[in-house]
Amino acid sequence: MTPGNDAQRAFLTEGFTRAHALATFGESYTAEHQSLDGDQVFDWLFSNGATVRNAVRMSLQGVIENTTPVPEGQEPQGGPFADVRVYCTHDRITEGRKNRFFDKSIGEFLKAKFECSGALAWTMVPTDASKPDIVQMCPWFLDYAMKQKVQWQTQIGGGKIGSMISKLKLDKFATWAMYTPVDLFQLYEKVIVHELTHTRRGGQKADLDGFGGYGWKNARKLSTGTGERSPSRNADSLGLFASISGLIMDGGMVQENGNFVHGPSAETKKKKRGAFDAASLKGRPLF
Ligand SMILES: [Zn+2]
Repeated sequence: MTPGNDAQRAFLTEGFTRAHALATFGESYTAEHQSLDGDQVFDWLFSNGATVRNAVRMSLQGVIENTTPVPEGQEPQGGPFADVRVYCTHDRITEGRKNRFFDKSIGEFLKAKFECSGALAWTMVPTDASKPDIVQMCPWFLDYAMKQKVQWQTQIGGGKIGSMISKLKLDKFATWAMYTPVDLFQLYEKVIVHELTHTRRGGQKADLDGFGGYGWKNARKLSTGTGERSPSRNADSLGLFASISGLIMDGGMVQENGNFVHGPSAETKKKKRGAFDAASLKGRPLF
């Protein structure tokens, strides 16, 4: 991570650790019948199908690799192109003529106009295959995230997720992209998972329909697409799936409308195969 100060580095290191955990949970739930809730959420986001399931798994495996720390002084396995560089400022970018922006770190013009006024972060895969993927944390978003009292779900004790959610709901932040409670849940680590699905190892996923592919409601609308419109190609669908997998691991669950419910007991995860009863969620208390 560069340049960034110590606090930013510490924050992002924690974020990457959390993103690693979410991607790991999500990857485990791409196997069917690990959890009834996991199967249901997969179905809501991706519909069903072996090809889609495999594509989601491969992408999350890439995110897991991307978030695995590389020991100091060593190159990542697979060489420098398998690395991801994270930036906290725009210092390396210079503006050229005709609204083109040059990234000094990779010696390339940005393919698209980068935009941090409406984005939380963005990712660029360089044309030169020997250069690392680049994740830009938008400075305003990083500042915002670092000012929050509760940054990560792990800072909340068991049973306190409810109070965390109510705080998030009060937050007027980023309503342009966030439509339901689940979209604000684990926002910072979910953003990292989302961005890493855009990398080469993450499968270079897209933002289908731009910001129209963000958030639970949009991901639900995209869930039945095929081919180029497959939901497994949509970065936020993958971010949401990883995030909700983490919620399920903590005993929570999401409803079809994007609200939270207290989840089933741990036994549910062990239950043998059976049809998921969406109506059973109605009986669970809302956060
Ligand atoms: Zn994106």
